[in-house]
Formats: sequence, C-alpha cells, structure tokens
Amino acid sequence: MNSIYGYSESDFENYLLSLGEKKFRAKQLIEWIYRHKITSFDEITNMKKDFIAKLKEDFVIDELECVKLQESSDGTKKFLFRLSDGNLIESVLMVNEYGYSVCVTSEVGCNMGCAFCASGLKKKIRNLETSEIVLQILMVEKYAKIKVTNIVVMGIGEPFDNYDNVIRFLRIVNNPLGLEIGARHITVSTCGLVPKIYEYSDFDLQVNLAISLHAPNDEIRNTLMPINKTYKIEELIKAIKYYIEKTNRRVTIEYILLKGINDTMACANELADLLHGLNVYVNLIPYNEVLEKPFKRSLQSDMKVFFDVLKKRRINVQLRREQGSDIDAACGQLRSKEMKREGLWEER
Ligand code: SAH
Repeated sequence: MNSIYGYSESDFENYLLSLGEKKFRAKQLIEWIYRHKITSFDEITNMKKDFIAKLKEDFVIDELECVKLQESSDGTKKFLFRLSDGNLIESVLMVNEYGYSVCVTSEVGCNMGCAFCASGLKKKIRNLETSEIVLQILMVEKYAKIKVTNIVVMGIGEPFDNYDNVIRFLRIVNNPLGLEIGARHITVSTCGLVPKIYEYSDFDLQVNLAISLHAPNDEIRNTLMPINKTYKIEELIKAIKYYIEKTNRRVTIEYILLKGINDTMACANELADLLHGLNVYVNLIPYNEVLEKPFKRSLQSDMKVFFDVLKKRRINVQLRREQGSDIDAACGQLRSKEMKREGLWEER
C-alpha cells in the first residue's frame, strides 16, 4: 500500500484518470490531506462512498514515530524519527526572524564520504521515500505546533543521489492547495553531482540551490570530498553557471572553514578568483568539531581575515550563525547516538 504523502497532484491525477474519475478530485484530495489533515479517509465529505473505499484499499495515511525530541538553548529542536522499517532519521527545526525553517534528511546514511562530515560516517542504507521526506515536515509541524515556512534539504544524505524522490517532495510541499511552502523559501544543497545540477536547472519550480564547495582548488577538494574525483571544480563551476543562466537565481556557496586546511589568505584569494563575476553568495561555516574526525575549527581571527578578503574582492559573503550545536543538531553533526545504541550503526 502506498503512503498518501508520496503522491503529488499530478500523481493523483493519473491515479484518478486510471479509475475513470474526474481529474479535479486531485485538488480536493490535496486539500483534504494537507489542509484538513485527515487521519482517516472517512473524514472526506465530498466524494462517493465507493471511491473512498477504493482510496482505503490503495493508500495508507501514515506517520513517523518520534522517538526523541531535543531542544537547544537557542530554540532549535532536533527530532529523531523511526521509519516503518526501523531505520532512524533526523530533522531539525530552526527558529528565525523570518519564520520556521526545517532541515530535512534525504537518505538513510550517505555515500558521499566527505572527510569532515559526521553524517557521512554511516554508509547509505537506502533512499528515503518521497512520503518519508514529506512526513518530516508534517511531523515537525505537529509536534512543535508551528507552520513551517522554509525548508533546507541539508540533513543527512545527498539529495541529488535521491533525485526523483526529492523533486517529487518539492512539488508536494510547494503545492498552493497544500503546505504552500514558497519555492523561493526552499533550498537544496548538493556536494556537486554535476549532471543533476543541469537537470535541476531545468526544473520548473523556482527553488534555490546551494553547493558544498569547501575548497578553492581540486588539490584541496580532492582530499576533503571524494565526489571531486568524479566531477572537478571546473565542471562544477560550469554547471553552476548554467544554473544561474537558466534560472536567474543566485547560488549559495557553502564553505566550511577548517583550521590549516582551507582557511588561509591564499585560499580566500583563490576562492575570490574562482567565483569572480558569478551571481553567488558565500556562506562561511565555522566547522563543528566532531569526535570521530581530526579536523579543527579555524581561529576566529583567521575566519575574520578570510571574510574580509572576500568582502574586499566584492564577493557576497556572510559568516553563518550557528544553531543547535549543543544538541548535535548543527551542520555535519546529525548522527544518532541512538543508532549506535540500537546496533543500527555501521561505521564505514
Ligand atoms: N550532501 C549535501 C547535503 C548535506 S548539507 C551537501 O553536501 O550539500 C550539510 C552541510 O553541512 C554541507 O555543506 C556539509 O558539507 C556541511 N557540514 C558537514 N559536516 C560539517 C561540520 N562538521 N561542520 C560544519 N558543516 C558541516
């Protein structure tokens, strides 16, 4: 049986047409599911009994079990969810001036193997189903009693390695009759799967793109991110240019500052050269140290110098504010001690 949360409006339309039903019922279904938040198909009042019986046969209205909820002193909340097959995933809710932002997980584990990232310590077990990504939003709204206004696909996993499900997820949460989360309020982050960046450039929703760059040249990037051996920086930049040309949207460049590795003035200048003339925005991220990794956070003074060099070179830049680090909810810290405890954790 399919989860009701895995179907986009056009999926419902195809389903309805295959049953000889009217297409417009897809819109009604979206409203029942995401506005009225039905927990049983019997709550639907404007459809025939036999059609409702058919829905019950074909779909389940499921949930994610919240096994743990941690709250940070800054208001950030981290949710640990158990999937129906027992796998555990995490989502993070952040409170901002502009609303409520959720960071969702896209895969169980991750195969990208970035040297500094704790999330990637666990090998990929499987893709998340579309419904499992959608449900993260719904469950966070339910438990925190808020309305999510922004989404970042920056939790565990590489979203472009689970492309189709992530795209379907974006369509569902963006639907104006449903959760109605504006495309401009959604950002997908990738470590640089170049072919998918091209595909994403042609996607019809105006969703944002973030690139985890973390190095100004191949030499350094090769040591940090295995993906760089497949897609070199030059190819990555070409793909970013294509995205900008196609969408007219500014791309976010994520750059973690790692002490003694990518945080020198020379690196800052090289980064400025690389990004010169591109419509990008650099997010400098203070590294969150993780027990399992040898990397250290850059000194405050070095971060400042790095920032100043970029500013002086007229690159749009900001130093990212940290949220939720005291509950291991900050970037790269999403890894569940619970999984270790339950023996579900397999180190690479
Ligand atoms: N796989 C995608 C989505 C994950 S986004 C991607 O790589 O973009 C998570 C972001 O946090 C990435 O930019 C990642 O490089 C960064 N990150 C990972 N470990 C971190 C750490 N320990 N401290 C700060 N940022 C980290």
